[in-house]
Amino acid sequence: MHVIVIGAGAIGVCSAWYLRQAGFEVTVLERRGAPAQEASFGNAGVIAPGYVTPWAAPGMPRKILRTLFEREAPVVFRPSADPAMWRWITRWLRECHPERYRINKLRMQRVAFYSRTCLHELRSELDIEYEQSRGYLQLFRTQRDLDLAAPALALLRENAVPHRLVDAAGCRRIEPGLTDDTPLAGGLHLPEDESGNCPMFVRRLHQHAEAAGVRFRFQTSVARLRIASGGLSVELETPGGRVPEVLDADRVLLAAGVGSAALLRPLGLRVPLYPVKGYSATVMVSDELQAPLGALMDESFKVAITRMGNRLRVAGTAELGSRRLDLRPAALNTLIKVARDWFPAAGHYNQATLWAGARPMLPDGPPLIGATSVPGLFLNLGHGSTGWAMSCGSGKIAADQIAASAGRGDGPAIDMDGLTPARYQLAPA
Ligand SMILES: Cc1cc2nc3c(=O)[nH]c(=O)nc-3n(C[C@H](O)[C@H](O)[C@H](O)COP(=O)(O)OP(=O)(O)OC[C@H]3O[C@@H](n4cnc5c(N)ncnc54)[C@H](O)[C@@H]3O)c2cc1C
Repeated sequence: MHVIVIGAGAIGVCSAWYLRQAGFEVTVLERRGAPAQEASFGNAGVIAPGYVTPWAAPGMPRKILRTLFEREAPVVFRPSADPAMWRWITRWLRECHPERYRINKLRMQRVAFYSRTCLHELRSELDIEYEQSRGYLQLFRTQRDLDLAAPALALLRENAVPHRLVDAAGCRRIEPGLTDDTPLAGGLHLPEDESGNCPMFVRRLHQHAEAAGVRFRFQTSVARLRIASGGLSVELETPGGRVPEVLDADRVLLAAGVGSAALLRPLGLRVPLYPVKGYSATVMVSDELQAPLGALMDESFKVAITRMGNRLRVAGTAELGSRRLDLRPAALNTLIKVARDWFPAAGHYNQATLWAGARPMLPDGPPLIGATSVPGLFLNLGHGSTGWAMSCGSGKIAADQIAASAGRGDGPAIDMDGLTPARYQLAPA
């Protein structure tokens, strides 16, 4: 049985690996020349199942409004005439209600905790190194930001996620490189959360998958999905007006990140997926003793600082309304400012390598994994700002769903309520 996976980001490559393990013939189609070249390339690398959080959170609209016109705003809004953006914002605002937040966060955590287990299993099975580090420290500059974390803290307690609120001195005991020149109201430490280099992991898994028989076709862009009488087929973009190449499959798994919505629309499947642009800067460590040991998040600026081997990754900001991935100097200055605020002498900040990417974001937060109303077409998309943390679990879930649809196995190992395309009325009737 042949499965085509569209997209070789973290989600597509993990899915392809597990599909092959389940005994399928697997072809991955990717428009770029290598795996993990889009959202999965320059992300912050944080794997924090205890703290995966929907952007649609109580207090967020007010926080965004408050900082909208600040130079170093964590969220930048570029109003445009794009109706998809306005529909997205309307739904997002509805999801900021405390009860919706709770539901969405628990759904995301379900995938993220499962994913961490899958990642650890894969890591030991395949002996993959990906510059992993342990522990996640949230920094709150002001008491107001600390207060905004109250609903998240309540959920940590409710779900018995190991965590500890610490004062400024406690933060510095966990991360001795933290300067005391920047005001710090307190921190939240999640000792079991972690971080790692996402593209490094994906490239290694791609090698293992290829060795196991998965066929990867790079520089291969999918133009459209076609519903044929005998099943689904995938039409490739063909330059120069030549007759397009068409590939048949028993199942198609769409894991094309922000490119997914455009492929679904002609089939009548409308997914409110919107690109939310972010930036990262990668900096060589110059002084080991003054550099972070693990992953941190400046909650006030929503900027993550992660240790990746002999480099620091600083990532954040969210821009809504811009589909271009140009490097905006003000956003990059914010990243470097935040890193310098906390670790002033840790790295060669003036030689940072800069990157911009688009998070494939749904308004409520949890991804969509599962069968659609188009026979044979499955989705694995919408992982937003936590797709690396959910990648292994999402891949395993999709493979288990496809195997179950072929009469093999019992389906996913976790409860899929609220995580399938049924959430947006896209599932089989
Ligand atoms: C600044 C920033 C920081 C982040 N930090 C974190 C973090 O700390 N932790 C975390 O868990 N997540 C983080 N994320 C989110 C994470 O990077 C994404 O959720 C994740 O990479 C999404 O993976 P994906 O495979 O769905 O998408 P992608 O990696 O974008 O992969 C999709 C692939 O599909 C291909 N494609 C699209 N259309 C087509 C087509 N028509 N034909 C063929 N191929 C196609 C693309 O080329 C691409 O390679 C961050 C994101 C950003 C931008």
